[in-house]
Amino acid sequence: MSGIIIRISGSLVVARGLANARMFDLVLVGKHKLMGEIIKIKDEDIFIQVYEETMGICVGEEVISTQLPLSVELGPGLISSIYDGVQRPLPTLEKLSGSFIDRGIRAPGLSREVHWHFVPQVNKGDLVEPGDILGEVQEKGFIHYILVPVGVSGRIEEIKEGEFSVEEPIAKIQLPITNYQLPITMLQRWPVRIARPVREKLPPQIPLLTGQRVLDSFFPIAKGGTAIIPGGFGTGKTVLEQTLAKFCDCELIVYIGCGERGNEMTSVLTEFPHLKDPRTGKALMDRTILIANTSNMPVAAREASIYVGVTLAEYYRDMGYDVAVMADSTSRWAEALREISSRLEEMPSEEGYPPYLASRLSSFYERSGRAVCLGKDKRSGSVTIMGAVSPPGGDFSEPVTQSSLRISGAFWALDTGLAHRRHFPAINWLISYTLYQERLSDWFKDKVSTDWHDLINAISSLLQKEIEIQKVAQVVGIEALPAEERLILESCGMVREIFLQQNAFDRIDGYSSLKRQEAILKILLEFFKAQDLWLKKDRPLEEILEHPVKEQLAHLRELEDKEFYQEVEKIKESLVK
Ligand code: ADP
Repeated sequence: MSGIIIRISGSLVVARGLANARMFDLVLVGKHKLMGEIIKIKDEDIFIQVYEETMGICVGEEVISTQLPLSVELGPGLISSIYDGVQRPLPTLEKLSGSFIDRGIRAPGLSREVHWHFVPQVNKGDLVEPGDILGEVQEKGFIHYILVPVGVSGRIEEIKEGEFSVEEPIAKIQLPITNYQLPITMLQRWPVRIARPVREKLPPQIPLLTGQRVLDSFFPIAKGGTAIIPGGFGTGKTVLEQTLAKFCDCELIVYIGCGERGNEMTSVLTEFPHLKDPRTGKALMDRTILIANTSNMPVAAREASIYVGVTLAEYYRDMGYDVAVMADSTSRWAEALREISSRLEEMPSEEGYPPYLASRLSSFYERSGRAVCLGKDKRSGSVTIMGAVSPPGGDFSEPVTQSSLRISGAFWALDTGLAHRRHFPAINWLISYTLYQERLSDWFKDKVSTDWHDLINAISSLLQKEIEIQKVAQVVGIEALPAEERLILESCGMVREIFLQQNAFDRIDGYSSLKRQEAILKILLEFFKAQDLWLKKDRPLEEILEHPVKEQLAHLRELEDKEFYQEVEKIKESLVK
């Protein structure tokens, strides 16, 4: 099926004469056979979004349709991979063409050379249905389950243990009616724009713990939930996304660097291989898939990278794993949509974004969720999506933030003012929110402490009061405030410094377990209570404000677990004296 190019406009190419063209089919464009996707068909004109640099392509060159949608390769070998936006492994591309990627290079997502030791879990004669576990291979310490592909069911005709490449059949399934014996390989393909099916979606009742105090305690996200992280330039979006990728309690991370500067992605590429997972002690890269589509790579591929990432996540969810997808930044993806839309000469909506911006964003975030997977054993897995948004000038009223806000379950707003004051993570506790609090409350009561919500509410109401008092203080001055109110201001300062702030780069402070978070909250509240009591007993305010315990509390963040809990006990004892 071939046609010819009649017009080229940046990453958009218009072709004619392509018989049987279908929306979202993959096409090869021009003499370099650049990868592209059909995104609009109008009469005879076929509009193609090209994922590679189109410079040098001429009108009249050939366009060939593959008659297949843009798909990813799924199978063992994905973990630790570094891909570009259309699942080409970057290390392979570098070998083929050096540091600058030539156009039209093809490199399969999965290596054909590596052999995996496959161990079957079913026997000849067993009846299988989509999602059933056929067997497993070991991938970077993970059990990688090989599942019966979607749409296939029948009787196992042949299955064997042994070393196989991803293209060699590991089993044969005899299909009903036709009796055809379908060879099954470990390599499966899936169109990126279609969500992989599940048996049943589950409610978001288990928190995804991040080790970040302000998030876990005040704005928790559920496994299978969605969060957006809007913030102006330099407010710490990338650092936060990377911290979450390092510490969140998911089994697998898909990190999509979408349209960000190359050096930010470099820091991930150079840093991750040396970092260790705080829970398992294994290298972080052994649970991570990176998709790098930096700002100097073709704009259109940003669109693809988001879908590629989430499809890979769904594949591991289907095995029963909890997977987190970090997208940095969804704004760059939206800008790519805007650019393509303007080239398609579509009617623009707010700030030039296409009218379907909100629906595209929601079709991405909708792919999150905790679910019972296909297959007889009813295992469950989850995909949690955390997307950074970069509103120009930090203005949250712009369309991408607003459209994302409507569909996300948690809103972690990064504040320019806090970032300027070096309060990191710069999450504004007054405007951030989570819709998961209620659904998660049973888990926190059960697993952490029955009075968990009282603790959180007590601290939150202090922080609310602070705002009111500050307003008054601006008029009358701090000295003129009543002693109780001055104490509240001081207490809130301590909550900020000891609890809300967290240094992502510190070995100890970078990750805080829930147990530690609870201990800090409790000891802070005990100290505040003691202060109130001292005030009532007419101790002078200056003496209370300069109590030595404050110094001890301030250093808690720096202590290793053992000393930390000893110190908390010591502080407790000194408060009852
Ligand atoms: P953005 O992606 O929003 O432009 P970055 O994530 O690059 O911003 O953060 C800018 C700078 O802020 C970082 O280089 C770092 O110095 C500082 N920073 C951000 N978050 C933290 C944190 N949690 N702890 C310590 N420093 C941080």
